[in-house]
Amino acid sequence: MTQNLLANHTTARVGGPATTWVKVTTEDQLTLAIADADTADVPLLVVAGGSNLLVADEGFPGTVVQIATKGIEVVETTDTNVHIRVAAGHVWDDVVAWSVAEGLTGIEALSGIPGSTGATPVQNVGAYGADISQTLHSIRVWDRKARKIIELTGDDLEFGYRDSIIKRSIVSSTTNFRNASPRWIVLSVDLQLTKTGELAPVRYAQLARALNVELGDSAPLEHIRQTVLDLRASKGMVLESTDYDTWSTGSFFTNPIVPIEVASTLPDEAPRFAHHEAGENTETVKLSAAWLIDHAGFHKGFGLNGESGTVEGRASLSTKHTLALTNRGSATTQDLVRIASLVRDGVVKKWGITLVPEPVLVGVQLGI
Ligand SMILES: Cc1cc2nc3c(=O)[nH]c(=O)nc-3n(C[C@H](O)[C@H](O)[C@H](O)COP(=O)(O)OP(=O)(O)OC[C@H]3O[C@@H](n4cnc5c(N)ncnc54)[C@H](O)[C@@H]3O)c2cc1C
Repeated sequence: MTQNLLANHTTARVGGPATTWVKVTTEDQLTLAIADADTADVPLLVVAGGSNLLVADEGFPGTVVQIATKGIEVVETTDTNVHIRVAAGHVWDDVVAWSVAEGLTGIEALSGIPGSTGATPVQNVGAYGADISQTLHSIRVWDRKARKIIELTGDDLEFGYRDSIIKRSIVSSTTNFRNASPRWIVLSVDLQLTKTGELAPVRYAQLARALNVELGDSAPLEHIRQTVLDLRASKGMVLESTDYDTWSTGSFFTNPIVPIEVASTLPDEAPRFAHHEAGENTETVKLSAAWLIDHAGFHKGFGLNGESGTVEGRASLSTKHTLALTNRGSATTQDLVRIASLVRDGVVKKWGITLVPEPVLVGVQLGI
């Protein structure tokens, strides 16, 4: 395996080489590698699981720091709670599995999300009625501007839907790579989990149906985890090396949040969910990007048969879910970008709504 080729470190398995590659396994190595790149004024790209990254075929003209730190530490236990600290590079799903085995509630609905723990606050990862903001106590970060380690709380992070100040500090550009990585590099994540023993509440209708319980009722933790994993697998949202539907960055577009007047122009059957972000005054709703894509004529598997003279089947929408953009084995980043651009433009044409990519784009942008 070519160590410095991003295709070998991203779940979509695309992306060219980096000039320099540094893999770090301790926090000291991590802060030193970041500080060294910044002192030398070399473009920096932080990579962990590579499951939310799309990097240009030309590669990255700078230093990639691959975070591979590990460890779960119990900081404090009370009668009701357990406070843990997890190293940034620790595989997220291993933390979820550990919490479930310990009878701790809070992150079980986030089972099966690929990638590292340190990346979870970057876009406030979420699924099945939960997101990381609900259990996050604080994080320790290397602040590249102040050049020191500081602590940030959930309030400091200004979490939104798939968003935080960390993600907002990344600037995607095809020519300037100075801010390809965030200002704050997460070193460890502190979570506050609840001791409930065997049971946890279910907060998502589809999950409740699959578990055969009422929304808001409780179910066994292990059962919740397994049901989430099964639901995710049926949509190609659990990594499986033999299944091209999972060679992706997960959902390629976020669900659009639009003013209520915009939503009212859509057909009644278009799914919509109440939505409120702190500090927002206008009434907004969240739409289903998957529905908008499908009903703009881009169905599951679009691209697989070379439709629209696109990319000869090298890349396509997943055959299980219209929101995932997949590599069918030999795709390039540009192939994925081509499909994404067609889909985004088709949705604008049909619905007048511009979908926004969820993964971090480095050195690439959708066609204009
Ligand atoms: C099949 C599949 C399913 C998915 N399902 C979901 C889902 O249900 N919900 C969801 O929210 N996401 C989902 N994702 C997206 C992705 O798994 C998450 O965003 C995950 O948290 C990314 O972690 P990572 O370690 O792979 O990050 P990477 O892809 O390595 O990095 C992503 C971004 O975070 C930055 N970054 C990484 N580590 C750090 C750090 N320690 N400090 C600062 N910045 C850092 C990187 O520079 C980059 O900008 C899915 C992806 C796939 C492939």
